[in-house]
Amino acid sequence: MVMGDMAMKVELLVIGAGPGGYSAAFRAADLGLDVALVDPRPRPGGVCLHEGCIPAKTYLSLAKLIADAKRAATMGLRFAKPEIDLGEMRNWQKKVVSTMANGLEHLSDKRSIQYLRGTAAFESPQSVRLEGGEISRIVFTKAIIATGSQPVSFPGAVFSEKGYVWSSREALALQEIPKRLLVIGAGYIGLELGFLYAALGSSVHLVEQEQYLLPTVDQDLVAPLTTSLTEIFTRIDLQTSVVKVEEMANHVAVTLENEKGTEIQKYDRVLVATGRKPALHHLALEHAGIDCDDAGFLKINDRQETTAQHIFGVGDVCSRKMLAHTAMRQGKVAAEAAAGLPSGYDVRAIPAVVYTDPQIAWCGLTENEARAANRDVRILHYPWKYSGRAQSMGAGEGVTKIVADPDNGRILGLGICGRHSEALIAEGVLAIEMGATAEDLALSLHPHPSLAETIGEAAEIFLGSTTHLLPRKKT
Ligand code: FAD
Repeated sequence: MVMGDMAMKVELLVIGAGPGGYSAAFRAADLGLDVALVDPRPRPGGVCLHEGCIPAKTYLSLAKLIADAKRAATMGLRFAKPEIDLGEMRNWQKKVVSTMANGLEHLSDKRSIQYLRGTAAFESPQSVRLEGGEISRIVFTKAIIATGSQPVSFPGAVFSEKGYVWSSREALALQEIPKRLLVIGAGYIGLELGFLYAALGSSVHLVEQEQYLLPTVDQDLVAPLTTSLTEIFTRIDLQTSVVKVEEMANHVAVTLENEKGTEIQKYDRVLVATGRKPALHHLALEHAGIDCDDAGFLKINDRQETTAQHIFGVGDVCSRKMLAHTAMRQGKVAAEAAAGLPSGYDVRAIPAVVYTDPQIAWCGLTENEARAANRDVRILHYPWKYSGRAQSMGAGEGVTKIVADPDNGRILGLGICGRHSEALIAEGVLAIEMGATAEDLALSLHPHPSLAETIGEAAEIFLGSTTHLLPRKKT
């Protein structure tokens, strides 16, 4: 690496230090490349660590404790009403994030990666300008774009911590517990943050323009969560559009519209959780000959190469499924491809988890997707009311569902609604990646009593050998 005149040369430049970017940088350095990692944030981790997955899950763990304590009252164990200290909660969250950021910094330093602060923009296919840091120009041989995504807003709605309209970022700043909170959007971010604030005491009104919560997920999985959220939220309106959001002197006035008509409601805060879009606007991609598709995502091939072959794209900038684990895998693929290895992104089962109570997780083919593709599948549905472990935890509302090939029982998809879905789903990912069949899962011993048994029992439905369900009568 040659430095001087506030400019430097590097073999591989990684732009953006979120999970996609740092995974790429670490793998490339391990493969012997000379790597620089740039990001405007003082420390690596990106949206995921600093304002997304980790802060959200830290607070959701506490919300879950509150929900568990309430549930315990129905089992003969009563706790006093929780005392909520937002300052202490924020400190706890900062400590968690800081511990993880320290780890990333250490791993980056030990790999001799140059971490540089600044916002990059291409000035040519081989160089970027860097704003806001000590180095102002970087010349590279290869580059990886990992600049992530940003929330989409409504016309007229400006996100601000001091204002009344929030994105997930302001909601996770956890500065206050609004009395009346409107959540716009029933995707996973809207449901998780709505659940968090409802647990903390907000009166939460959820509005979704589609017909269902989590509209893309199989609705038999969502049903137990809908029941639970109907109790926790003050109001849920489906097939309802937000037509206007207006910040007034001390509240937000929101105009809602559905087939019943139009109404104007007042809220203390409004959380807009209507989706995220790739963060590519500052990059001047045209100077490097890089193209985006019509939806604004980077066009990439299975080696993560963009339309400029020496520049790669990973993570939210190119994935329609914006998830940290896809970003990390793509980061590794791009690093390996940049190092000249025959790598490729070849994933059959992407797990997704909603960290509400109950949780929902799924991977592989969903029943919705199979029906839309006119594909014949066998659905193996195991209600948790038959699971001793689920009942012992007061979690009998859950369900495990396998989507299988009707001819040979090959596992194509797994969906779970219930406690610990985040961990249980891993069995489905492995089964799909390994080409396992229902017989493989049914004959693998699952510990008793455990929630994992529901996966084995669902698989046994295919063989007609379930113990805790009656076999389907042969016709
Ligand atoms: P990011 O993590 O977004 O990082 C991009 C980085 O690039 C940022 O640090 C940014 O500062 C930097 N950058 C941007 N522009 C430039 C530039 N011009 N120059 C230099 N640097 C730049 N995913 C999950 O898998 N599980 C979850 O539970 C989950 N929960 C979430 C909860 C919330 C509230 C949110 C908002 C997201 C959540 N996600 C979750 C999604 C996850 O955070 C993203 O998919 C993931 O962070 C994408 O990683 P990335 O590396 O592509 O980009």
